[in-house]
Amino acid sequence: MSHDPDCIFCKIIKGEIPCFKLYEDERTLSFMDINPVNPGHALIIPKFHTPNFFEIPLDWLADTMTTTQKIARAVQKTLEPHGLNILQANGPGAAQSVFHLHMHVVPRGEDDGVTMNWGIRPGNMDEIGALSERIRANIA
Ligand code: 5GP
Ligand code: ZN
Repeated sequence: MSHDPDCIFCKIIKGEIPCFKLYEDERTLSFMDINPVNPGHALIIPKFHTPNFFEIPLDWLADTMTTTQKIARAVQKTLEPHGLNILQANGPGAAQSVFHLHMHVVPRGEDDGVTMNWGIRPGNMDEIGALSERIRANIA
């Protein structure tokens, strides 16, 4: 599995920077987004550096989607949001800011005003950490 030394998500995979980890298996990792668009915003990544949806080998994509469903179910069970989006961006024109493929799990509130390209707003680390424990407890 190859990594990019300059990639923030590769650094998370290698444990060089911390994260609120939700789940990990041989090929995938899930953790909380530290700039949540809504509480419970989680990310799922393959554990090797691949920039986007076009490049990732199909078997790795399948494993990433399997973990995405696992995390989406846990977030849904924990927060019972009004709705939940699964999102993924390719290229700056789609507001991709980290060029290591990742799936977003975004709980939605009724009339929460979230648009497709939301702005980055730093979250409260205590709240994100507490929520990560609750979601972890619901991973089946
Ligand atoms: P994109 O804009 O590429 O679709 O999403 C990248 C996401 O990664 C953003 O939602 C951003 O908040 C998140 N992010 C960026 N840096 C970090 C980090 O160091 N840790 C965590 N947990 N999330 C990050
Ligand atoms: Zn990477």
